[in-house]
Amino acid sequence: NSSYTINDMMAKIRVCVRKRPLSSKEIHRGEKDMATVSGRQLAVDEPKVRLDMTKFIERHKFVFDEVFDSDATNEDVYRRTAYPLVQYLFEGGKATCFAYGQTGSGKTYTMLDDSQGLYVLAARDIFVKLRSPENSHLSIFMGFYEIYQGQLHDLLNERKKLHAREDGKNGVVVAGLKEFEIVNVEGLMQVFAYGNNARSTGSTRANADSSRSHAIMQIVLKDRASKTVIGKLSFIDLAGSERGADRGETDVKTRMEGAEINKSLLALKECIRALDQDKKHTPFRQSKLTQVLKDSFVGNSRTCMVATISPNNSNSEHTLNTLRYADRVK
Ligand code: ADP
Ligand code: MG
Repeated sequence: NSSYTINDMMAKIRVCVRKRPLSSKEIHRGEKDMATVSGRQLAVDEPKVRLDMTKFIERHKFVFDEVFDSDATNEDVYRRTAYPLVQYLFEGGKATCFAYGQTGSGKTYTMLDDSQGLYVLAARDIFVKLRSPENSHLSIFMGFYEIYQGQLHDLLNERKKLHAREDGKNGVVVAGLKEFEIVNVEGLMQVFAYGNNARSTGSTRANADSSRSHAIMQIVLKDRASKTVIGKLSFIDLAGSERGADRGETDVKTRMEGAEINKSLLALKECIRALDQDKKHTPFRQSKLTQVLKDSFVGNSRTCMVATISPNNSNSEHTLNTLRYADRVK
């Protein structure tokens, strides 16, 4: 039913799941693919052991707005996730596309892969639109920052610490964020590569890796003359969802990072749910992540979450946690 599909693509919130293929290492270890996609349905088989030590498989079934099987390309995913958001950007909306999932499940591959992430595919279409005569008064700016331990760092400005401020007009601005005007896809990729380098090699991060921070790459559409913001499209590569559970025997720093990640992912879930229910109160102040995304939760906004999952049996517990989170957001 095509009219259903169009409505569906225009929904305020879309929750999609992407299953990556088994890696060659996993195949080599003899791991099994536990996730079966059929249409919008996903079944995950969880290996379990009874009290008498006999083994059995429990099957869990889920339905999402979209489920991408392991053979889906980034182009396939783009068409049904970020592409409608590009249209929306030019209509003056605020749109956000997230990747949520366990470390190693394909978040970066989907959102921020240097050469084929959704941000590149979106930029390609954005610049085609920008070149049409009716858009000649518009220009594109890019910002790229990271949230680590509740602190914002500008990836395009030597990891400078930044602060979020409410702008009094229902929005939040990241004060002092460096933005570059971008005129083509190549330019965007160059600036991205520069920022991405700062993501993992910053000297202040001795032990931190990209799985413990949220990366936010934003494309802002502005009126060339007045510099007024017309629309905004953000691509977010969230911290590894399993990091939120880091506690117990691990060291204090890891535990603190885990607590912060847990807090922000819970707040994100609450904010998206509030958006769906058109609630008056959105708890965006509960974390730095949701605070900077405030304009994605109020007014003209659209959100698309891509929950990425690993298909192998040894990850099925994390996979189920991801799917339960995504199911709650839906
Ligand atoms: P994450 O960012 O969630 O930690 P990555 O995006 O780094 O995970 O993916 C982990 C590995 O799996 C990488 O080597 C990546 O190239 C590969 N990968 C992820 N998703 C896919 C996919 N859909 N198809 C092929 N390879 C993938
Ligand atoms: Mg990653």
